[in-house]
Amino acid sequence: MFQIDALPAFSDNYLWLLQDHARQRCAVVDPGDAAPVLAWLAAHPGWQLSDILVTHHHADHVGGIAQLKAATGARVYGPAQERIPERDVALAEGDRIRVLDREFVVYEVPGHTLGHIAYYHAAPDQPWLFCGDTLFAAGCGRLFEGSPAQMHASLNRLAGLPDATLVYCTHEYTLSNLHFARAVEPHNPAIAARFAQVSAWRAQGRSSLPSSLALEKATNPFLRCGETSVKEIIDERDGARQRSPDELFACLRTWKDGFRID
Ligand SMILES: [Zn+2]
Repeated sequence: MFQIDALPAFSDNYLWLLQDHARQRCAVVDPGDAAPVLAWLAAHPGWQLSDILVTHHHADHVGGIAQLKAATGARVYGPAQERIPERDVALAEGDRIRVLDREFVVYEVPGHTLGHIAYYHAAPDQPWLFCGDTLFAAGCGRLFEGSPAQMHASLNRLAGLPDATLVYCTHEYTLSNLHFARAVEPHNPAIAARFAQVSAWRAQGRSSLPSSLALEKATNPFLRCGETSVKEIIDERDGARQRSPDELFACLRTWKDGFRID
């Protein structure tokens, strides 16, 4: 049996813990804090942390690596283009790695940071995507280092993966992102339905993740720059003119950066 759980960290991070029950081995993605992982290991005697997968260099994704590696000897995978503490294996576009006896392909997805990578496992029925702070549920990461065109290309690439792909992003931002999605497309019934569902889940303290690519394509404004409804509202806000898809994406990202929930 194989299981993937979110270990909450800080105020809204999730450390994804992949568990291979047959062999009692596990791997963690983006451990910004070692404490939740060490607590899990202490509560599960016999289990070994074998691998640490890192998507990018921000502190809330790498802060726990050194302590976890010292405690467990886990192997650390991370992007070749960024400074990752204790990295054993430097990864670039197209690299394939085996973790817990499953193959993951590495995609370079610059935008949030320039060296950001994502990990994709092409399971036949339901693939997995660990995309860090690139694609969020109903949103995307801020552009700290890359350009709008880079981020838009990265998101489009992820959107080209199968609809059934489960999206494991690293923050519980979904409800706040859906407030923005509603402002962009007030008449999109899929966004309204998701807003109601995620509101109910969050009221119960339940995680809104993982998402799926099918759901993201229907409700994530940053994957919907080609929709007439999105073009029309950008025209309304920023003045009507011909815009490329990258320019529309840039307008949306700028709008979101200044967006406040009433
Ligand atoms: Zn980040």
